[in-house]
Amino acid sequence: MNKRDYYDILGVSRDASAAEIKKAYRKMAIKYHPDKNPDNKEAEEMFKEAAEAYEVLSNPEKRSRYDQFGHAGVGSSAAGGGGFSGGGMSMDDIFSHFGDIFGGHFGFGGGSFGGGSFGGGSGRRRVNKGSNLRVRVKLTLEEMAHGVEKKIKIKKYVPCHACNGTGAEKGTQPATCPTCHGSGHVTRVTNTFLGQMQTSSTCPQCGGEGQIITRKCTVCQGHGIVKSEEVVTINIPAGVNDGMQLSMSGKGNAAARGGIPGDLIILIVEEPHPELKRDGNNLLYDLYISFPDAALGTSIDVPTVDGKARIKLPAGTQGGKVLRLKGKGLPDVNGYGKGDLLINVNIWTPRSLSHEEKKILENLKNSPNFKPNPTSKDKSYFARMREFFS
Ligand SMILES: [Zn+2]
Ligand SMILES: [Zn+2]
Repeated sequence: MNKRDYYDILGVSRDASAAEIKKAYRKMAIKYHPDKNPDNKEAEEMFKEAAEAYEVLSNPEKRSRYDQFGHAGVGSSAAGGGGFSGGGMSMDDIFSHFGDIFGGHFGFGGGSFGGGSFGGGSGRRRVNKGSNLRVRVKLTLEEMAHGVEKKIKIKKYVPCHACNGTGAEKGTQPATCPTCHGSGHVTRVTNTFLGQMQTSSTCPQCGGEGQIITRKCTVCQGHGIVKSEEVVTINIPAGVNDGMQLSMSGKGNAAARGGIPGDLIILIVEEPHPELKRDGNNLLYDLYISFPDAALGTSIDVPTVDGKARIKLPAGTQGGKVLRLKGKGLPDVNGYGKGDLLINVNIWTPRSLSHEEKKILENLKNSPNFKPNPTSKDKSYFARMREFFS
């Protein structure tokens, strides 16, 4: 990401004096203050950007490094402490430095200017988020082909029943935090020459939750959550792949004291099929037939994800032939049609022969029909590969 020039951000020239820089930053900080621009991400970014620019340009040593080397000169490694990493500042960082900018030493303390204090106490309370849970679900090819409903037992944090997830002992109520009066933030009002400036940071007593527990629930020790086992029903759509992840929002661990639960992440694992191999949405099957069946023609069962299917092989079927059963593969998970089942025909050659069998074959050996005579219709494996790669 390209960072904007610090001088451009504050709208000052490169030879601006320290006083000019300070003045420019004050203007920016007031214009983009979060209390004045609630829920405005853009303003928040500008606010942070200006704070970072001021952080560097107000420090003579950092400013000269920045003038020489640009952003690289004041990156996190070179910044040399001060609590700022070049990659941006937290709101708390910014506010903690506000005293220097808006402190009373401008000599206008108490004077109300323009709109006076900012912010209508729109203190957003911190909401706890439960952690995500991950489970592996093994599926057969048949289940992947048709979709399946799986009920799985998972160990997870659930809201404590004894205290209804509040963490407070039954009969007692969580009390409003006396430090922040429930807002989750502590605000500090400083008088500046522009009027009162309200700055805020996370309340140290309640950690931003706005409430404190007077007597902890003995079942959950005040956390509001307990370990439990739950049976979750997972609807897996047709066409999922090995390694695919599905996410069920809100089905993960419950959050401490009534926050937002995490997600349940389901990792799909394919159980190998004894006969069928998967290749994308297609299925591959190696069929072995005897030489008499190949020569005389036959009907034979092949496995599919919908059970057995009977296929007809004509007399004179060659080894290496690939038959395609359209639509007998797996459906696309996004609904774009179905794959095929490809059947590779192999002719089984007997490994051992009885005396009698040998005799019969010897008799047939010199028959003209038994002499190999492939035509262009008999596509061997190599012929197909040549076609594929040409
Ligand atoms: Zn409890
Ligand atoms: Zn508090």
